[in-house]
Amino acid sequence: MKRVLFAILLCVCPFIYAEESKPKNIIMIVGDGMGAAYTSAYRYFHDDPKTKKVEQTVFDRHLVGMSSTYPAPISGYVTDSAAAATALATGIKTYNSAIGVDVDKKPLESVLDWAKKQGKKTGIVVTSHINHATPASYLSNNESRHNYDQIADSYFDKKIAGQFKADLMFGGGWKHFIREDRNLVNEFKQAGFYYLDNYKALSKLPKNSPVLGLFADVGLPNAIDDNNKHRLSLMTKASTKHLENEQGYFMLIEASQIDWAGHSNDVGKAMWELDDLAKTLEYLETYVESNPDTLVVITADHNTGGFTIGANKKYQWKPEVLRSMQNSADKVAETLNNTPVTKQLVDELLNFTLTEQEFSQVSHAKSSAQNEQQVFKEQVNQDNENSKNLKRPVSVTKAIHSSITNIIDNRTTSGWTTGGHTGADVQVFAMGANKALFSGLQDNTDIAKKIFKLLGKN
Ligand code: MG
Ligand code: ZN
Repeated sequence: MKRVLFAILLCVCPFIYAEESKPKNIIMIVGDGMGAAYTSAYRYFHDDPKTKKVEQTVFDRHLVGMSSTYPAPISGYVTDSAAAATALATGIKTYNSAIGVDVDKKPLESVLDWAKKQGKKTGIVVTSHINHATPASYLSNNESRHNYDQIADSYFDKKIAGQFKADLMFGGGWKHFIREDRNLVNEFKQAGFYYLDNYKALSKLPKNSPVLGLFADVGLPNAIDDNNKHRLSLMTKASTKHLENEQGYFMLIEASQIDWAGHSNDVGKAMWELDDLAKTLEYLETYVESNPDTLVVITADHNTGGFTIGANKKYQWKPEVLRSMQNSADKVAETLNNTPVTKQLVDELLNFTLTEQEFSQVSHAKSSAQNEQQVFKEQVNQDNENSKNLKRPVSVTKAIHSSITNIIDNRTTSGWTTGGHTGADVQVFAMGANKALFSGLQDNTDIAKKIFKLLGKN
């Protein structure tokens, strides 16, 4: 008899458990472009060299599985951020560049849409412009990620049962929301949104209004250059507090610029973007402890740059110059574009002493790019007919940037295989309620399907 009872309990309990344990709040986090090498590198970047052990990171603590990222067959095996975010948001694979639409360009419902229909509050918090591919795939439906203004318009125009899709939007985007033909910021304000354009205002959000926070023209400044190096974590803290309510909330958070660092093969930028994401996760670790009915799922949409720890047959990776960095390579390049290049200045900006050879790489990069620009201008002036076919040389700033990232790659022994994306699987991390659902190998579409289920959709 006892055995029978036990067997019945075993059969019934998982169902009762599954029924009762749906999380109240779901936070989905995308580290754009964050392939596994990035979180490994971050472990060594973050390591305290004074201790014998390599300290664990927040990523290490919460790894649960892996995810494949391939798009719909029409786009092959390597995804872009739009198709990947559409998969993560809707559970459907689509073509590269699609925003919340399927291969026939038919609009798809996102987990955010569905959460809103269930009476939850919704939000997006990103470090790109808020109408960029990843957040757009949760909030919009468009045949192309490049229709930025249309996507921005849809945030105001497309409602769910008469309500705005998002109760909270934080990121960049003045360029697309304050335009000559339309001022969406004013429209949102008139519709009752509280608008803020600086981080300080995050500490005094009016509890009962929906909020729109735009903090930059397009993407936010690089983490390392920003007046708050942990702006994602700051925005996240404010939004969890703001979105809390009886019915719970769904929120998308994106560390958008890991991908941008990967595209420009800039390991310094990548590490400081990861540091901001790590601080965000550390905050959410404590948040989940005090709100155990919250689920946090973290993954990457794909892998950018083919980043490698240990390149050129050297069995080493040395993050020292990354740790002591004060300025991004972008900022250093911009500064050197506008000022005469002296060794003292470059040393100061990079916060380490360059060898003579390294310095000559930087100054040569500038002078030869300037020359090429000059030659190009002269050719265009001489021959207007054929000038359309002439290839514009790289900008001086870009040339200086490459010379600096090359030096940093050599010093750290970092490698890159591409300026684009690779098709390698990505990691999945989870914490809080129902986190075990995300363990093992899954597809990016499964992540959306699991979230739909947790939100009560079959
Ligand atoms: Mg993105
Ligand atoms: Zn990308």
